[in-house]
Amino acid sequence: MPVLLPLALPAPYDYLVPEGMHVEPGHFVIVPLGPVEYLGVVWPRPEGAPLPKIKREKLREIIEVVNDVPPLPPVSLDFADWVARYTLSSPGMVLRMMMSSGRAFAPPAPRYGVRLAGTAPSRMTLARARVLEAANNGLIWVKSSLAEAAGVSPGVIDGLVDAGTLITEPLPDWHAMPLDLSRQRAKLSPEQAEAARELLVNTSDGFVVSLLDGVTGSGKTEVYFEAIAAALSHGHQALVLMPEIALTSQFIARCEERFGAKPAEWHSGVSAPLRGRVWRAVAENKAKLVVGARSALFLPFPDLGLIVVDEEHDQGYKQEERVAYQARDMAVLRGSLGGCPVVLSSATPSIESLVNAAQGRYRHIRIAERYQATLPDIASIDMRASPPERGRWLSPVLVDAVAETLKRGEQALLFLNRRGYAPVTLCRNCGFRFECPNCSAWLVEHRFRRRLECHHCGKFVPIPETCPNCGAEHSLVPCGPGIERIAEEIAERFPDARRVLLSSDLTPSISDLRETLREIEDREVDIVIGTQLVAKGHHFPGLALVGVVDADLGLAQADPRAAERTFQLMHQVTGRAGREAIPGRGLIQTYMPEHPVIQALVSGDRDAFLEREIAARKDATMPPFGRLAALLVTSSSREGAEGYAREVARAAPQATKIQVLGPAEAPLSVIRGRHRYRLLVKGAREADLQAYLRLWLSAAPKPKGDVRLVVDVDPYSFL
Ligand code: ADP
Ligand code: ZN
Repeated sequence: MPVLLPLALPAPYDYLVPEGMHVEPGHFVIVPLGPVEYLGVVWPRPEGAPLPKIKREKLREIIEVVNDVPPLPPVSLDFADWVARYTLSSPGMVLRMMMSSGRAFAPPAPRYGVRLAGTAPSRMTLARARVLEAANNGLIWVKSSLAEAAGVSPGVIDGLVDAGTLITEPLPDWHAMPLDLSRQRAKLSPEQAEAARELLVNTSDGFVVSLLDGVTGSGKTEVYFEAIAAALSHGHQALVLMPEIALTSQFIARCEERFGAKPAEWHSGVSAPLRGRVWRAVAENKAKLVVGARSALFLPFPDLGLIVVDEEHDQGYKQEERVAYQARDMAVLRGSLGGCPVVLSSATPSIESLVNAAQGRYRHIRIAERYQATLPDIASIDMRASPPERGRWLSPVLVDAVAETLKRGEQALLFLNRRGYAPVTLCRNCGFRFECPNCSAWLVEHRFRRRLECHHCGKFVPIPETCPNCGAEHSLVPCGPGIERIAEEIAERFPDARRVLLSSDLTPSISDLRETLREIEDREVDIVIGTQLVAKGHHFPGLALVGVVDADLGLAQADPRAAERTFQLMHQVTGRAGREAIPGRGLIQTYMPEHPVIQALVSGDRDAFLEREIAARKDATMPPFGRLAALLVTSSSREGAEGYAREVARAAPQATKIQVLGPAEAPLSVIRGRHRYRLLVKGAREADLQAYLRLWLSAAPKPKGDVRLVVDVDPYSFL
């Protein structure tokens, strides 16, 4: 029997099944490999594949079948093989992503909850009364969730246990409130109802991809909730992918409102024991609705009936480490393998998805209007005409707009997609600049944490008193703004406003982040200053003004998607304004107001901009009209990287529809002390890029010493 191990091996290994043992593909088994034992999965032998060449006597036996975990469903096995073939990675590494919860395989530790036993406590307080009311449904509660539901401290619960009012009982292994599909749903607007009707048609019969393309605030979530409800009512599981954990909290709250219970969560902020329980509950078909980051796609759903990819255009769906995959594309693959409909939702769909829709592969559903609100009014601020004062970053036009907004008691958001205080620090005396010793990058000042930090390898040093080069005192000056510097300027200009700074490096935990987002939602904050953490998806009812500090930042990049990406980000962030009764406004600071991206944002003419972008991609046969793969060669020595990259390039086979460009030194030429060289493979749309790459790599010399070669099919980063 072939058994796939979660290791970087090219294929499953064969094992003998001992007398009396019964195994089938998908079963988890323990097998020996060299001197150690591994947990692996019995794998199907591809039809017509030859039996192993090794002699039977040489094969080792499966040690044990792990029976207390459900086997991986056939669709998961299929999916792992496809993903491995598509991304040119080892199937074992894909399996590893599927098994990423070690805890799922340990016997679940018994957990205890509390239940209302009926005897009222002798001393009644307001807090205690709230607990009794919340626990009155006869269910067993996890202590912390009961405290949360009743809005009391955990001590109150303990007090009621001591008083005998609550009794302790073991919790079932998967403890989640059942979803209630009969709840009153939102009353959809006529436009939403039409979109929902189309979506229900598309999602009622197997694999179909729908592109739900609705302006910001149009109620796309309400619309796809209808498709989720339908899938759940047929008893299927449903998965909602989100590009960033920061987005999940509002979604969870809305699920609770709509379905009377929380979905299961799967992302890096979920504790290891809970991940173990979620994994099992998904495998056992007990967790019906799952919301998660891209890795949730690899959960072992036995009966997935719907996949929603929210904010489908988001770059957060691309994983670059280990197995390089694009989760949106893999969601479509998973849907096609499992006969399961897929919904891609966005106000700024990717060009890839729009072209798929235009060519009839996806069904396009549009929502043109906001739900009970109008789209914000967007204007650019020409920084040449109304520049900020020396040493400041906000134009007087933007400052005045913030002041007016505050005067009206409304909220303002200032957005800059750059963490830290200043991107470069230099010595005024000798011109020395702080550079990372391991990377070809400047060190970024982080004033809150009083250090200079590399954004590529994480190295940091305390901010020195004197210049390390010339020894001058008080000579170091920060150059350019990061988000912390904008926060400083805002604090000086609006000292009385309630301000919050949100940046991924300053937000210690997911619960803190959720608390801050709630404060913004409940209007306990006047000015939000943030990076892309606040740019996407959120619904802040009191937010009237969005100011983009530097719209030109993304446009300067040498990246085929730079214009598309900048448009999406700017449109999304300004789309946070005016989502309810208050009219919204977006102000975009730029030195290039005539740039097509800025023009498209200001005029609101998305389609004209996209048409031009699509035409340009077509002319250049860039994705989705052509295909790309990146080969990245790294080594601790420059010669090592360059030399091997050249050897690989020389081994490239001739092909009519495929071109190999490079090698060239990567724009980020060193990261973590490793020199980097890039090759780019460009193929026609119909070219079989994977077959070409496989042929090439099998012919190319193997890397020696510390040289590494990484393949990235459909790359999004060119640095
Ligand atoms: P989108 O995802 O398209 O930006 P959302 O689904 O977040 O929009 O909806 C925006 C806001 O409008 C949310 O607060 C949502 O609850 C509300 N909303 C949308 N449609 C309805 C409806 N039919 N009834 C009540 N509230 C709605
Ligand atoms: Zn570095």
